[in-house]
Amino acid sequence: MVPLLSSSSSSSFHCIPSATTTVLYASFFSHQLPPPLLFKPSSLPLTPLALLPLSLLFSSSSQFWFSQPVQAASAMDVETEEQRLLRLISVSCLYANVAPEKVPLLYSPSYNIAFLGLEKLHPFDSSKWGHIHNILVRQGVLDSGKVVEPPEATRDDLLVVHTDKYLQSLNWSVNVAKIIEVPPVALLPNFMLRNRVLKPFRKQVGGTVLAAKLAMEKGWAINLGGGFHHCCSTMGGGFCIYADISLCIKFAFAKFSLSRVMIVDLDAHQGNGHERDFSADDRVYIFDMYNRDIYPQDFEARRWINKRVELRSGTLTEEYITILKKELQVSMDNFEPDLLIYNAGTDILEGDPLGRLLISEEGVKRRDEIVFEFARAQKVPIIMLTSGGYIKKSAAVIADSIINLNSKHLIELNSS
Ligand SMILES: [Zn+2]
Repeated sequence: MVPLLSSSSSSSFHCIPSATTTVLYASFFSHQLPPPLLFKPSSLPLTPLALLPLSLLFSSSSQFWFSQPVQAASAMDVETEEQRLLRLISVSCLYANVAPEKVPLLYSPSYNIAFLGLEKLHPFDSSKWGHIHNILVRQGVLDSGKVVEPPEATRDDLLVVHTDKYLQSLNWSVNVAKIIEVPPVALLPNFMLRNRVLKPFRKQVGGTVLAAKLAMEKGWAINLGGGFHHCCSTMGGGFCIYADISLCIKFAFAKFSLSRVMIVDLDAHQGNGHERDFSADDRVYIFDMYNRDIYPQDFEARRWINKRVELRSGTLTEEYITILKKELQVSMDNFEPDLLIYNAGTDILEGDPLGRLLISEEGVKRRDEIVFEFARAQKVPIIMLTSGGYIKKSAAVIADSIINLNSKHLIELNSS
């Protein structure tokens, strides 16, 4: 097991958040333009579900299922959106203290999803994150005792980005099934999904948020999970249940004196989730290089990409690398970020049936190296997220790339 980040051997965090250390910008909270909710209960398909008692599909706990009563309040008592987010972030435990001997690499065995064999119904290797960790340890480049295990994002943490309505929609098993693209999951009791599916994702969300704090302190951080770039505040999809990138940025804006964040999204798919969440926020610059021929083809969200680089199916390694270098340089010349979030999906690999690009394993290593070199040249802290990658060799390719970054001294896995 991976030890926790503090010296405590407990499996739970003892968090004493300090509101006094929170820095907030006056304009921080005024950028949300929520898109419409995707799954409306009234439009749910009923055919297979009508055969089951409703109690099997919904949460057995009223904590998540029923709306909290809304208190009547006078105008003086109404909490503004800015105050609400300040309150949520100031009491959050996600920015945990990390022992100095740890390396800024985030992972937990809880990241991995495995239950009842259902995970085998999705082409996604749902234990990819554990496989990456194990390869790094086996290769002798990572001491598992120095890995940072993040706290799990709570419901209040998620409300920094997500609407209450969206989080409540996850109490319907059919909605979770749609998002993770495993239809039989719709037939499972919701309490089972909370523990076996939602919890691993919330743990990975915690890793992405904490990665920003570590990157600001140490210059870089890698979350072996995260990168759920299809999810926005009101809508999930494409195996992305929570908007970890949006949460990471909102926390970073609030906690540090940042004014400009760049997302470099090199997953094979368009990152429509963060694009929708930051559609009206010019402090966030989005570089997105994706296969235009595949999911999600979110043409509305494409309008919010600052640097849109569209590839066609079958793009080869050399062309890919040449375009990346050229366009990334253009973006860096036009925008000087205080923090760079690198969404490093490996579904660009040759053989990935969903990404449909033809990038070699060596090409993925070169790609990651290029992004880290840009960050170093600009002296900007960088967070890497593993995001999509739908074939079994993805874990080994990611591990090889991290080893390559370490050997090039772009990261330091063995530093104390
Ligand atoms: Zn993808």
